[in-house]
Amino acid sequence: MLLGSHVGMSGKEMMLASVKEALSYGADTFMLYTGAPQNTRRKEIADLNIEAAQALMAEHGMKKFVVHAPYIINLANTVNAETYDLAVMFLKKEIERTAAMGSDTLVLHPGSHVGEGEDSGIASIVKGLNEVLTPDCNVHIALETMAGKGSEIGNRFEQLARIYDGVKWNDKLRICMDTCHLNDSGYDVKNDFEGVLKQFERYFPLSQIACIHLNDSKNELGAAKDRHENIGFGTIGFDALHSITRMNEFADTPIILETPYVTREGEKDRAFSPYRYEIAMLKKGIFDPELIEMIRKDADRA
Ligand code: FE
Ligand code: FE
Ligand code: ZN
Repeated sequence: MLLGSHVGMSGKEMMLASVKEALSYGADTFMLYTGAPQNTRRKEIADLNIEAAQALMAEHGMKKFVVHAPYIINLANTVNAETYDLAVMFLKKEIERTAAMGSDTLVLHPGSHVGEGEDSGIASIVKGLNEVLTPDCNVHIALETMAGKGSEIGNRFEQLARIYDGVKWNDKLRICMDTCHLNDSGYDVKNDFEGVLKQFERYFPLSQIACIHLNDSKNELGAAKDRHENIGFGTIGFDALHSITRMNEFADTPIILETPYVTREGEKDRAFSPYRYEIAMLKKGIFDPELIEMIRKDADRA
């Protein structure tokens, strides 16, 4: 299995710091944002420290990682032309950065139609992807399955299939499955993941899944909320999530944790990464209900 988490990329070391962070969690892979996920300020490719990062990855036999485009990119916005134009322009650069860093997968939230309706949103996403994708592009854009919060598009597989249908170079598209989002959009990951995959296969072969976001959910099936929970502490539970990590079909697919940092009572400004603990627990295959308490105690000692 290829198990990791999202990691930061900042400071002088930039991408080298990302690889070091992933290694400190005992991860086999990782996901990074090329800058703050909420904005589009980015460093030059030359300043990302890519060579040193790749050397450290090679030293540890790390081969795959994925990049996540920032949330504010919204190709589905037909109301504000500036938002759409920025999304197209930024996405082109994000593809260049992803390729330069040595990843072939850029995860993208399809977008939100901001009140104009699903058809208009999907048409706009298709138009945008057709402006961005070229036949010689060596990066895949992995459309993420969404929770359906607000006017989000991509909470039904059928919508993702409609995007594929409209995109000329759709061999450059892939899917990123987010388990929390699937649950929140009404796909029963907890009790019937096999059935969920059967529904998926009505539109796509499983080989289209280029990345899995492994998250538990704070909300009930179909809540359309999108609030991630630590593995085993939410409504999906440890067993269903653990079994996904053991599927042969996903043996070579980056599985990325985006679970929340752990805080302590009255200490909202300090938060502790759960990833080293969650990765170890998933690899061991036994749920530890004391995990969160253990993270808090270790934080005391550090
Ligand atoms: Fe995402
Ligand atoms: Fe996600
Ligand atoms: Zn989410």
